[in-house]
This record gives sequence, structure tokens and C-alpha cells, in this order.
Amino acid sequence: MDEYPLGMDARTRRSALQALRRAEGALLRPEALPEEVQAELPGAREALTSAIGDARIEPAFAERLAALERATDAGPGSASARDYVDRHGVRGVVRFKTAGASTRLYELPVETFPGHVNNVYLIVDGELRCLFDVGSGTPTSRRDLAAGLAIVREAFGEAVQLEQIDLAIVSHAHIDHFGGALDLREKSRALLLVHELDARVLAAFEERIVIAERNLDVYMRRAGVEDAVRQELIAMYGFSKQLFRSVEPDRRLRDGDLVAGGYRVHHVPGHCPGLICLQVHDVLLTADHVLSRITPNQMPESITPFTGLEHYFRSLGKVRKLEGVDLALGGHEEPITDLRSRVDEITMFHLKRLDRVREICREGAHSVAGLSFALFGAQVGYGRLLALTEAGAHVEYLHGRGELRIANLSEVAARDDAVILYCLR
Ligand SMILES: [Zn+2]
Ligand SMILES: [Zn+2]
Repeated sequence: MDEYPLGMDARTRRSALQALRRAEGALLRPEALPEEVQAELPGAREALTSAIGDARIEPAFAERLAALERATDAGPGSASARDYVDRHGVRGVVRFKTAGASTRLYELPVETFPGHVNNVYLIVDGELRCLFDVGSGTPTSRRDLAAGLAIVREAFGEAVQLEQIDLAIVSHAHIDHFGGALDLREKSRALLLVHELDARVLAAFEERIVIAERNLDVYMRRAGVEDAVRQELIAMYGFSKQLFRSVEPDRRLRDGDLVAGGYRVHHVPGHCPGLICLQVHDVLLTADHVLSRITPNQMPESITPFTGLEHYFRSLGKVRKLEGVDLALGGHEEPITDLRSRVDEITMFHLKRLDRVREICREGAHSVAGLSFALFGAQVGYGRLLALTEAGAHVEYLHGRGELRIANLSEVAARDDAVILYCLR
């Protein structure tokens, strides 16, 4: 039974949250905000009601709205403004408590590509200023990172400037997480740390793009992707080469390493070869390994070693076993209060998807492109590539275990350009 017949669904909740975050600008001194933000600062109530349309405001939002209105009336720096900021953060910049008495951990939302938001984390401990992920380096990403640091100074009283960052730890070599490394190298003295299996992508970016494009091309031919679509997707994939130049990391990380005076690195390959989670006392920064809503995209190991579902499952098991984690914070989306349940949900999700692949392949032989269509329907833009690699990772997992076999082996043996068809054994 839903207590609120016109309650807020997940999407409405997200836009409600966005609306409140915009209105929270009123809790900062006007001079701390960029002019364009000041000019369009909405009132909290109008912003919220226009964001949720016909839905009824749920109690949690009503409470937050009332607190925000009180804090706005009292003005920047007032006790109620400080209380509000402590509890809810301001404009998406939130401070999290950790078990380490001297460690302050901040989440900074950064728009890395249009409509795509990453969480960058700032760790402040004594003299140490450390970033976990650095955004994409695009203009919106740099703008939001600078704005986030300004808010940390203004609302939380931290003395922190981009130029004073000591360490930049990159969670994995996906451009939305590491692209900002170049800008940071130019503007700060920060040492750049990345897992050894992803260091090559940063250090030899041009090589990485060329090899990945070639592997992807072969993969898509075998998967049965039409020529025109294949070329379009490769061009789309190669687009990121305009966004970055190689940067040599200062330190290559390995599983179990301690960084920044004691935070432990956990290597969790799967979504990306060198993906790491960082344990900051009782908080686990999970990057793209575990996210609160979506399941991170899977890539077949035949395209990139150390990806693939087998690695991913093992890495899920690894973080599930970690002791002393009270909160998990992902590289996107919301905090995860029960990491183990979320890991179980994601595992179940992929087991079901594997079942679905078995079912489809029981009905007849399919190419990976055909399976991708059967699983996800027609996709557009970059979604086509994500659907293909996701389907391919599941096929690879089952084929690797002998549950699927190649239905047209003699054709594959005879022709370089044969599309591989899979069926249930
Ligand atoms: Zn990623
Ligand atoms: Zn990501």
C-alpha cells in the first residue's frame, strides 16, 4: 500500500533534490557565488513545487524544505543555516563523517559531460588535501570542481584551493574520472596516483585509444554489427582522444597499498582493469564498482583484459567481505548505507541477466548484436556501444564456462569476417 497516492517516484525525488540544491545557494554569501548563479537563485518552495508537478511533497522533503526556508530567512552564517548545511550540505556539496576524528570528507558533484554527474571526493586531514577522482577536465567539470572547492571554503570553513591539492588519486581510467588530471597537473603540485593496470591509459593515452579502437572493431565485426554502425560507434569512442593528452602518474598503486597516511587501496577489477575502492576509516569510496542505482557497465575481457563478469563478481565478493564499512560513496549517484545488500542486489541482477541470455540462446543461435537487441531493444547514441559490451560480457561469461557453444564453427574457421553465433550447448 502506498500511503501517498500521488507520492514522489524516484525520478521526481531526484528533480526535487536538484531544485532544493539550486535554492540552497541562498545559504552562501552572494559574493561566494558566481554571478550567473546569483541571478537565477530560485525560492525554495517555488523551485520544489515546480520540480514535482502534481506529486505530493513527501514528509522528508517537507521537513527539508521547512529547514531550508528557516535557514534562508536567518541568512548565511546563521545558526540555522549552519545546521542545515551540516545535515544536507549545500548545492550538492556534502560533508560526511568518518570514524577518523581528524578526517573531513566532502562530496563534490561535478557535471563531467552534459547531463552526466560524477562525485569527486575531497579528503582533508591536518595539512593533507587529497582528491579521489578529478572529473573529466571539460569546461563544466572544471567549473563545478572550482565551485565545489569554493563552497567547501565558504560553508565549511576549510582552507583549500585547487593549487594546494597534494594528492590526486584516480579511481579508474575512464575519462569522466581522470580527464581532469591534466588540468590539475598544470595548476597544482598534486601527485597523481593510479592503479598500475590503469596507469598505462594515462601515461600512453594515444596508444590506448588506438589499440582499444582496433580491438573494438574486431569485436564488433564478430558480434555482427553492421559496417556503418560500427564505424559510427568507433568514431564516437575515439572522440575522447580530443579530451586528453598523456600524463605520467607519480605513483602506481597495488592492492593493499596505503595512501595519504593510511587509507587502504582495494583493487576491484571488472568494470575497468585498474579500478580501486579507497577505504577512508569506516567509509568506502566505491567509484564505479558499486553504485546506488545503476549497475556499472560491463565490458568483455576479450576487448580489455581484467574486465569481464568473472572479475566483476570476484570484486563484488571482495568488497562484500570488507569489515568495518559503515557507508559507501560511489563515483556517481547517492550514498549507499547498506553496502552488502547493494552488492547482493547487483549480483542477483547479473545472475538474472545470465538466465535471460541462456533463455534467448535456447531458442536459437544469436550473434552478440542480436542478443543485445533481444536484451535491450533498439538503442541510440553511445547506448548502442554500452548495450553491445554489456551483452558481450554476459555471453563471454557463459561461453567461458562451456554453457554456450559456437553454432557456426566451420564458417568461423573458414572466413575472417564471419559473425559468431552462439547457442545453448
Ligand atoms: Zn567507469
Ligand atoms: Zn563513471
